[in-house]
Amino acid sequence: MIDASLSSYASRRLTFEIGSVIRSDSPYNTVVDEFRATCAASGKEFVSFANYDYIGVADEAYVAERAIRTIRHFGFGVGASRVVGGERSFHRELEDGLARFMDTEACLALVSGYGTNASLIGHVLGHNDLLIYDSLSHSSIMAGTSITRATAIEFPHNDLDALEALLKEHRSSYKRAMIVCEGLYSMDGDCVDLPRVVALKKRYNTWLYVDEAHSLGVLGKTGRGIVEHFGIDRDEIDLTMGTLSKTFGTCGGFIGASRAVIEWLRHTLPGYVYSVGLPPPVAAAATAALEILDSEPERVAQLQHNSRYFLSGARRRGLRTGLAGGFAIIPVHFTSRENALDAYRMLLDNGIYAPPIVQLAVPKDLPRLRMFVSAAHTEAQIDRALDLLEAFGMERNDLIDPVSEPPI
Ligand code: PMP
Repeated sequence: MIDASLSSYASRRLTFEIGSVIRSDSPYNTVVDEFRATCAASGKEFVSFANYDYIGVADEAYVAERAIRTIRHFGFGVGASRVVGGERSFHRELEDGLARFMDTEACLALVSGYGTNASLIGHVLGHNDLLIYDSLSHSSIMAGTSITRATAIEFPHNDLDALEALLKEHRSSYKRAMIVCEGLYSMDGDCVDLPRVVALKKRYNTWLYVDEAHSLGVLGKTGRGIVEHFGIDRDEIDLTMGTLSKTFGTCGGFIGASRAVIEWLRHTLPGYVYSVGLPPPVAAAATAALEILDSEPERVAQLQHNSRYFLSGARRRGLRTGLAGGFAIIPVHFTSRENALDAYRMLLDNGIYAPPIVQLAVPKDLPRLRMFVSAAHTEAQIDRALDLLEAFGMERNDLIDPVSEPPI
């Protein structure tokens, strides 16, 4: 139950909004030491579809060794903002590697992906400017839109006709404008139509900000993200944002942009200037993970195979997968929150971990299990999860007519 020490207003509001989800058997904030993509621990094997270890680096000895070596040499933390006393060679090594990988002139790494979006989006525009963003943007983007001095307008999710109409109506009233979108949307697993957004950016003379948190390492033949997926030049994107917490298996955020923009941010971006630099083991582990991504594109191919395998299997079984395009994130929707919560518990009883995502994170009428597929999953593990979900869906009458030829 909700902690009785919460103020009565907060407590009432939370109870109203979250209701029965906060219970002793809540699926959230659970200690999950045993849950990895594949893991035999405590004598019992669990399979996790809850973690975004897309290319399976989180357990790699190579990554762990690099982190340990770096701790031995540099210690645990850097003890200051990088601007004044916290700068270390491993920061630059990581940033240079990321810039090379993304094909941006330069890169800047921060301690949090969330903080990167919030700080950057809040920082780059002024009060005569226009910020225009997708309605299903991640909470960190929303945080940035709420602190910006620019006028912030949202367009309906991936509705680029609506985006164009808004640009047509508003662009000329503002000095500068920036479109914000995500390469791969984190709750629905669908992509942005980047070529069309780039055309709009050019037509209406705006900047383009793309959050590639979930698309780097996932999309494109070698994992270079939404630009590689569509064969677009990285230069078309003014600001590429990414996180170290997904494909790179650690934690932190980064920005890829022109050298001039990165140098400006190095001296002005609040989330960078006024926050500590990345801890040594984290930066070193991310660099090691990047090396694996760069040198083993077969992991990306395996992830893409597993994603398609999951999506086509889910559709064949009549599971509702909403907007999913078959790229690592695949939601399985239910008609009620109760079914989503029970499906979570049923999977857990069968050694599979995939927590439910319900209102507030997604609309009330679209409760789901959000399944993160990894290169480390086997087809047998995917089949088992899907078979269990199909049997559950049949029992609850919560399936749709199977699609015979999945359009992926
Ligand atoms: N952007 C998107 C699209 C995300 O989904 C997330 C978190 N899942 C973030 C940014 C924040 O990244 P982090 O968790 O690394 O802080």
